[in-house]
Amino acid sequence: MNELTIMSQCLAQVRHVAKASPLYIKKYAGLPVETMMTKEQFETLPFTTKQDLRDSYPMGMQCVPNNKIVRVHSSSGTTGTPVILPYSRQDLEDWAVMMERCYQLAGVTDEDRIQITPGFGLWTAGLGFQAGAEKLGAMVIPTGAGNTDRQLQLMRDLNASVLIGTSSYGLVIAEEVDKRGLRDEIHLKRAIFGSERWGDKIRERIYETLGIEFFDIYGLTEIYGPGIAIDCHEHTGMHYFNDYIYCEIIDPATGKVLPDGEQGELVITTFRKEAAPLVRYRTRDITRIIPGECPCGSPFPRLDRIVGRSDDMIKIKGTNIYPSQVEEILKSIPGFSSEYRIVLENEELRDRMIIQAEAMEGTDSETLAEELLRACKSGIGIRVVPQVMKLGELPRSEKKTKRVIDNRD
Ligand code: ZN
Repeated sequence: MNELTIMSQCLAQVRHVAKASPLYIKKYAGLPVETMMTKEQFETLPFTTKQDLRDSYPMGMQCVPNNKIVRVHSSSGTTGTPVILPYSRQDLEDWAVMMERCYQLAGVTDEDRIQITPGFGLWTAGLGFQAGAEKLGAMVIPTGAGNTDRQLQLMRDLNASVLIGTSSYGLVIAEEVDKRGLRDEIHLKRAIFGSERWGDKIRERIYETLGIEFFDIYGLTEIYGPGIAIDCHEHTGMHYFNDYIYCEIIDPATGKVLPDGEQGELVITTFRKEAAPLVRYRTRDITRIIPGECPCGSPFPRLDRIVGRSDDMIKIKGTNIYPSQVEEILKSIPGFSSEYRIVLENEELRDRMIIQAEAMEGTDSETLAEELLRACKSGIGIRVVPQVMKLGELPRSEKKTKRVIDNRD
């Protein structure tokens, strides 16, 4: 689909939701949506946020009559009010089409046996993978979450060739396969993992044990569910389906749309969704649109791996930095452990970014500090203050470790 067609469909969706969706009737009140013709005008529309969806609980996003709704899903309500997403029959069909494409891009065929380990139910993952697999004609083993004993038994006895899940569950499976000496009895060829930012160490460990090819799948309940993007066998980014969703990358601080190739927050418009369409939805995920074509020849454009959440962004000396970038740099320098902390300070109105990182025993802290300084200068473009610490010196936490301490005024 060319850009003009996509934009005209986005604008048609805008005009539709401005009349049909309680959420957008309120949001777009007084805006000249009827006369909007261009991308520039589209980019003046206010964003839709997760809070908007929470405020619309339960069905304030509904954009079709009740009899058109055939299912609801809900996004995990770990904080506050859950979000309910209604689907029409067409929405489910569209989602299954995208999911089938994901399998195809990952080289899965109707010969495969797909073991689906994410949960089924209100959570979107299980049912999404199921629908796509049925469309493809592959055999599904819908184990759902948990019960590793049964997972392994069925994986072995039914010759599962594709594993669907999270990378952390993949690791559990890999370790059990190892422990029980099942390597020769498990015939997995590929795995599709999603929903978390992957640790490379986890990937390596799974690869060592199972020797399978991995594919990164992307999606969020607000936008159908998993399956709106996946990486192909070239592994140079995730193809997203631009005939269903329109992606923009914005500067999370200013809301300004950034050119292709630049890193920022992903904003999605579902221009074909019927029951709960979203326009300019802020995903909070940080990525970039990769310019150019993929060597695999797919016509679908690519998103880069998700590097973090916009809530974690650090703004320093006019540059946006994510803790994950610092993490990558530390990982690239042999001698650092996985523990680190970023401390922000200002001294005479000048921001300072201190990186405290633990070194492994037997390393030279002066050399490590120099390397860290140099790697940050070339990697994120700013001069940091490296502080190399002894192993175990940084505070540990049972819960999520606080990586960034902002002491600026
Ligand atoms: Zn490709």
